Amino acid sequence: MRSEADGNLLIVNVGQLLTFAGPEGPRSGSAMRSLGLMKEAGILMEDGLITLVGPSRDVMGEARGLETLDARGRLVIPGFVDAHTHAAFAGSRHNELTDKLEGKSYAEIAREGGGIQRTVRDTRAATEDALKVETYGRLRRIISAGTTSAEIKSGYGLNLEGELRLLRIIVEAGAELPLNVVPTFMGAHAVPYEHRKNPTAYVEELVQTIIPAVSSQGLARYCDVFVEEGFFAKDEARTILEAGKAGGMRPKVHADEITSCGGAELAAEVEAITADHLLHSSTTGLKAMKRAGTIAVLLPGTSFSTAGIPYCDAHRIIQLGIPVALGSDLSPNSWLETMQFVVTLACYHLRMHPEEALCAATINAAWAVGLEQEVGSIEEGKRGDMLLLDAKDYREIPYRIASNLVDTVVKDGVVVVSRQ
Ligand code: ZN
Repeated sequence: MRSEADGNLLIVNVGQLLTFAGPEGPRSGSAMRSLGLMKEAGILMEDGLITLVGPSRDVMGEARGLETLDARGRLVIPGFVDAHTHAAFAGSRHNELTDKLEGKSYAEIAREGGGIQRTVRDTRAATEDALKVETYGRLRRIISAGTTSAEIKSGYGLNLEGELRLLRIIVEAGAELPLNVVPTFMGAHAVPYEHRKNPTAYVEELVQTIIPAVSSQGLARYCDVFVEEGFFAKDEARTILEAGKAGGMRPKVHADEITSCGGAELAAEVEAITADHLLHSSTTGLKAMKRAGTIAVLLPGTSFSTAGIPYCDAHRIIQLGIPVALGSDLSPNSWLETMQFVVTLACYHLRMHPEEALCAATINAAWAVGLEQEVGSIEEGKRGDMLLLDAKDYREIPYRIASNLVDTVVKDGVVVVSRQ
């Protein structure tokens, strides 16, 4: 008997289905508005994979005896892919909210012992069990809000043992939770406090010790650096990213978030898969990214939650023909656990159209984390990762602000969240 528990599931009577089926490659320009929309659709999943997408009646005829989910005219979209998170950490920085409201900048909060260094202290002090419980709790909440794939960065250990421990937890989460997890090494998130007087020594430690250890244990797919004044200079970042590359980790770059510091140019130079933030990138840098095939990951939640940071000009980037993906930037600075709200922010503050924002949160985000062959669209051969939403029209996702529209989350053909 082919049971639902083994990933055999039929969904019928889908009112609107966004498939995002389309040509190979991340979507750019006007192609970002192409939804692959079907009406009165059905989806068949067998052994966790999508085997048929078509008119509801036809799909029903092909699948007798299978467990059936009646969508009753509701909306189905691919599971969200969150292209940028720092979800593995201990503690909380809710006390910094008041500082932000009083006008303290990210840099000032950091100088007073808050920010990343505070989370590094909390994370180092946590037992492995406690760190895992806190991280898994967050990941279960993002799953119930519709995220079925997420990139997760290390970066709150900032020493050999701390970084390896975080990456182990991140990799284990992918094996133990109904979530595709893409681990990224980000030992260059900040210079740890103990190296503050000699940051060069930390760059050397990263290159000579930590990156080779991460690489030999196969714990991360990408290597990311925060290129910013007070964090890592462009030349240091290049050295770190080249070392990561030599260890089999493709570069990602936190680029031009607070100041224009050549992040986009560097991302293009090292052929990064993505450059993220891009608030203050030069046109030369963006054009270089376009030529290098680097995807832009935009994070409107960070602007929403960080004092003094504007929103990115998404249309400048889309008009240059660069594919745009979205991420939550879930972190202690920007504790945002729902991609539904990221899509809302992308529309209201980045002025992306609902179609563009949804493309950026699904298929383009899948390209941004290297999962494009498996997820991000509802097509035959891909994993059965999708959401049944309590809505009739996809535009309700950004429009109904901060609502949780998720009715059912299907992961690999198995119902993992259900409100029915
Ligand atoms: Zn980040």
